[in-house]
Amino acid sequence: MRKFIQQKKKHLKDILLRKYIFVFDKDGTLSYDFRPIPGAKDFLEYLIKNDKKVVILTNNSSIPNGKHLEMINKIFNLEFSIENIYSSLDHLGYYLKKNNISKVYPLLNKESLNYLKTIHYVEEEYNNPEFVLVGFHTEGKYKDWAHASLLIQKGIPYIIVNPDLRCPTDKGFIPDAGSISKMLELTTGIKASHICGKPNPEILKLLLEKFGKSKDEIVYFGDRLYTDIEMGIKCGITTILMLTGETKFEEVPENIVKAQNLFIIESYFELMNILK
Ligand SMILES: [Mg+2]
Repeated sequence: MRKFIQQKKKHLKDILLRKYIFVFDKDGTLSYDFRPIPGAKDFLEYLIKNDKKVVILTNNSSIPNGKHLEMINKIFNLEFSIENIYSSLDHLGYYLKKNNISKVYPLLNKESLNYLKTIHYVEEEYNNPEFVLVGFHTEGKYKDWAHASLLIQKGIPYIIVNPDLRCPTDKGFIPDAGSISKMLELTTGIKASHICGKPNPEILKLLLEKFGKSKDEIVYFGDRLYTDIEMGIKCGITTILMLTGETKFEEVPENIVKAQNLFIIESYFELMNILK
């Protein structure tokens, strides 16, 4: 199998050089908290020097885009601008706007909710919301989750802002929106009515629309099989599974290994070698 994977990478250099937008997942692909993944800085600098557009597409809804930007610029000592960031909160804002939803009970951190309000008008409604929003609610308390459960049982539908079960940090994994929503699902026996963020192909479509680019002009780098890689394969874009985060080589299912548009890369050093 390893031989097959190496064989597939024979034309990767040409494929990558033809791309215009290099899109990266953040946690586990570029960094863990404030710790950069080894070699990532050199690779980002290489892309900037070669006039490639770098975009960070993150499912992490615990902080707004501006905070992701601050973090990335601090970690890598670079000067990206806010337009380099796209997130599940952007996708959520689009979805709420499209469906004319404004009264929500948000399980979202304060700053994330404020950011959402810059995209689309929403107001917090405790007793009778149209939807419950389940995000990566690190400021959440038991009483919030209990109230959300009661609303859901009353028939209020809920949206998962991002389906990630856990978020990697420097010290280990912590529960993410996917786990919080699993808790609500187990409590109520009711599934979410909609899921924003990766692997929903709509988030990639929105990103491409934002930059006026087509699928062929983009390459996506991510570390998680059920979000990053599923989206990349589903959308038919060139996708790089980085083994820098939560996925180990042995865990990659054969159908993913064999997917035409998927390449498995050990590290940024390997990538730089390929591009030499
Ligand atoms: Mg990740």
